[in-house]
Amino acid sequence: MNRSVRILNEIEKLYPNAETELNFSNLYELTIAVILSAQSTDISVNKVTGDLFAKYSDVETLAKADVKDVEKHLNTIGLYRSKAKNIIAFANQVIDNFDGKIPDNVEDLITLSGIGRKTANVVVSEHFKIPAIAVDTHVERVSKRLKIVRESYNVVETEKRLMRAFPKERWSQAHHSLILFGRYTCKAIKPNCKTCPLQSECKYFTKHKAEILKD
Ligand code: SF4
Repeated sequence: MNRSVRILNEIEKLYPNAETELNFSNLYELTIAVILSAQSTDISVNKVTGDLFAKYSDVETLAKADVKDVEKHLNTIGLYRSKAKNIIAFANQVIDNFDGKIPDNVEDLITLSGIGRKTANVVVSEHFKIPAIAVDTHVERVSKRLKIVRESYNVVETEKRLMRAFPKERWSQAHHSLILFGRYTCKAIKPNCKTCPLQSECKYFTKHKAEILKD
């Protein structure tokens, strides 16, 4: 078994059956929720999407929305003004360019407002069950601390390296497990190293061992 898979196994033991913490009930809601989650927590996004989806339940209603009204729904999350603009533009582009159907592949999805590679990968993996690894801040930090990817790698290089490191059938689950491990254990500031089973594999632990054990 290769080293990366061994590490993934340990992480999946800590977070078995990891799944997204965003609330959604269809492809439209999933896509909007993921767009809104950029630089915002899932919890804060869940607080606004209930009312937003009650009023704008599909791309048709959202495409005709008044941006000021959408801003009011979103004003407790970060970057709400640009997100309001983006999701209305997204809805119009889906109608104009894709006959009202949200695309089922990364290449088309990334042509839409508010959607980058990470969002597109989450959508195809979550809804269309196409294996994908979406690299967000948690996935990137964890895989660098654990030396699965090089520190210098950008997001696309990180995604490609992780795809080589893990078996394809485990990509989507690996994405969820790495996110939860990064969110709750291997946090950006003060990670829970003392109880982490991956100390011996970890660059961060090696570097900060003395201060971690002293605390
Ligand atoms: S030892 Fe600490 S920094 Fe390293 S993987 Fe575990 S929690 Fe993260």
